[in-house]
Amino acid sequence: MSQSLEDFARGKLAALEQRQLRRSLFETDRLEDAVAIRDGKRLLSFACNDYLNLSQHPDIKRAAIEATERYGVGSGASRLVTGNHPLFRELETRLARFKGTDDACVFGSGYLANLGIIPTLIGPDDLLIADELSHACILAGGTLTRGNVRIFRHNDVDHVAELLATHRADHPRALVATDGVFSMDGDLAPIAELSALCETHDAWFMTDDAHGIGVVGAGRGSSFVDGSKVPVPLQMGTLSKAIGTYGGYLCAAQPVIDFMRTRSRTFIYSTGLPPAAVAASIAALDLIEEQPEYAASPLAKARLFCELLELPRAESCIVPVILGDPARTLSASQMLEEEGYLVTAIRPPTVPEGTARLRFTFTAAHADEDIRRLAAIVKTRVMTS
Ligand SMILES: *Cc1c(COP(=O)(O)O)cnc(C)c1O
Repeated sequence: MSQSLEDFARGKLAALEQRQLRRSLFETDRLEDAVAIRDGKRLLSFACNDYLNLSQHPDIKRAAIEATERYGVGSGASRLVTGNHPLFRELETRLARFKGTDDACVFGSGYLANLGIIPTLIGPDDLLIADELSHACILAGGTLTRGNVRIFRHNDVDHVAELLATHRADHPRALVATDGVFSMDGDLAPIAELSALCETHDAWFMTDDAHGIGVVGAGRGSSFVDGSKVPVPLQMGTLSKAIGTYGGYLCAAQPVIDFMRTRSRTFIYSTGLPPAAVAASIAALDLIEEQPEYAASPLAKARLFCELLELPRAESCIVPVILGDPARTLSASQMLEEEGYLVTAIRPPTVPEGTARLRFTFTAAHADEDIRRLAAIVKTRVMTS
């Protein structure tokens, strides 16, 4: 009956397979200290965004278990119905304090946050300007605006200035959005320059700090690097990376947050996060605030790896080694797996054509000697081939 449907899917998969772009799931059992078990084989993971290894931390697990016992496993409804268990207030207050804003709004995930935030602020008459390497969910949020979306060359402030000078006046509202830390390249956005430029043109500025919170700027994120505090009126991020749990957030001024809670569709029409996730995020923020040296350690590990390979100094816990060709990248990833390291091959469409890469992520649990051994293998068997 659904022959055409199955034929469609099969045909698409075959074409992707031919280009080495078919994707598969591998069952992975993640343990403490960045260890992952695949096919019964013990691997040291350089592939996870759990930069502080908090997903396995005993105090944080305990917070999740206690919240489950007290409030149950699910929240039962949208937060605007009966899903707003008491832990949300505490988490939002904590996030706002951490980011220096009036308030915060927690969403189901980072992806859902961007799908909710962007079209709530920007409509069909308005303008969204986004970095070309922005995360997929910023661009998806842009599509939902049904407005005008302009893409700027990666980290090119002059290009943003040009787009604002040419188009800003034609639209009542404009939003400039970028990753704070780029998820596949690990570099930082020029946040201070973009913030100042947006101010000049009355464009709103949003950073997606999925890979910043917890690990850069003493854990406070990409607007706080080197002791600075760049004014960013919309600070979005996720709780599913360094925070180790799940959920997305926006930190902003009170009326902006109140408006999100009233109109953002992914907030209104999706169930509130489970109590365990919210409690675990609160416990994780406690730990990050109490132990800034611990929060700084994954970045130091990434920098050691870069030094060993003579790569540019890391600005975040993410270090790409760009190989270009998907097949070559896959075989490098397989070779590293045989050596006991889990390193993901990232291919298009996650990254632009011709830039397939190994993406290394560093965590507090990585020992320097493991980083040295990994770097030696990459140097002799990946970068030279
Ligand atoms: C991972 C990521 C997201 C999505 O967050 P989830 O909580 O995993 O949905 C959004 N933006 C960026 C930049 C990311 O890296």
